[in-house]
Amino acid sequence: MTPPTIRRDGRSDAFFDAAGRGELVIKRCADCAAWHAPEASGCHLCGGAALEWTRASGDAVLITWAKVHPRGEGDALHIAFVELAEGPWLHAALDGVDDPSAGLALKAAFVRPDDGEPLLVFRTA
Ligand SMILES: [Zn+2]
Repeated sequence: MTPPTIRRDGRSDAFFDAAGRGELVIKRCADCAAWHAPEASGCHLCGGAALEWTRASGDAVLITWAKVHPRGEGDALHIAFVELAEGPWLHAALDGVDDPSAGLALKAAFVRPDDGEPLLVFRTA
């Protein structure tokens, strides 16, 4: 798999700092403890605005996926929606999963390209 180059945008520093340590962090509401995807800016359950980056287990199951063929050279890869054990869905590449199936148990991992930030991927658990 040839990972795309990922750059920080200022709002994602905590995510990539954790990724550099091999840890997946997502957001958790300080008021009601609900888990949210990394891009969430507020809690849709209680209306709270205090979301804190919190380490997630990295455990997930596969919901759906698509096989993407890059333009030019490079290997096709599977881009997937996974459901984390904590609840939120994430959009990420599958790595080393040749025969995906819905409900497949997955584990978060990070691919470390020579350039750019670590890339979140999911591998068979
Ligand atoms: Zn909340």
